Amino acid sequence: MITLCAIASGSNGNCYYIGNHHEAILIDAGISARQTMARMRKQGIDPAKLRAVFISHEHSDHASGVRVLSKRLKIPAYITSRTYMAMYAYHRPMAPRFFIPGDEIHIGSFVVLPFLKNHDAAEPCSFRIMHNDISIGVFTDIGSPCDNVRQHLQQCRAVFLETNYDEKMLWEGRYPWPLKKRIASDVGHLSNDQAFDLIKNHSGSQLNTLLLSHLSAENNTPETAMNRFEELRYSINIHLTSRYAAGEVVFLEGYEVMK
Ligand SMILES: [Zn+2]
Ligand SMILES: [Zn+2]
Repeated sequence: MITLCAIASGSNGNCYYIGNHHEAILIDAGISARQTMARMRKQGIDPAKLRAVFISHEHSDHASGVRVLSKRLKIPAYITSRTYMAMYAYHRPMAPRFFIPGDEIHIGSFVVLPFLKNHDAAEPCSFRIMHNDISIGVFTDIGSPCDNVRQHLQQCRAVFLETNYDEKMLWEGRYPWPLKKRIASDVGHLSNDQAFDLIKNHSGSQLNTLLLSHLSAENNTPETAMNRFEELRYSINIHLTSRYAAGEVVFLEGYEVMK
């Protein structure tokens, strides 16, 4: 059985947990190590199971906690060399393990496959995490869906997917014009409409779990994002994530591998 939990999700911090009975990984470490571990314990998740943390890109809401977290838990921090060079020096992990997008990284029974995405960072990656017959996607901070993300989504049973903003709320909201343009650009963030289109037209038949992620506090509400997916709620389990606390713990059942 696989356990999923968004420990934090939003522009003030992102951290996504994927684990089985014995081991687990984190994608991103954008809140403090102390907060990360406290939020995990509150949800009944033991941080001692963590074997690795992966960093998607250098923005602080994804990378600010990695240095202390990897040191305190004595776990490797996987990152690309360009992301490492682009992040604040004081956030850099002490003993980074560099990967190249497209590499397959084995962590216990998990295989982590990073691939490039469209975002305004040095070498931004999305991740597909495979465990026996199950694939899980972590797809946030995407300005526009590319062929990579469409192709990997096809394989996924569960996805943490960015639903950053509602178009109307963004354009009518109080953000300055340049910031609105950056968010809506091809290297900014994914809107509720873009996320809905991606799921409706490009997911495979095995997709049964969707975790709406990285919601803007200013240009979206949990209800608005959820309502956008209303027509899919009968075929897919849809969960919300939060910037304020760890989200609900979600379980995925796998088929046992015969030995
Ligand atoms: Zn972000
Ligand atoms: Zn970002």
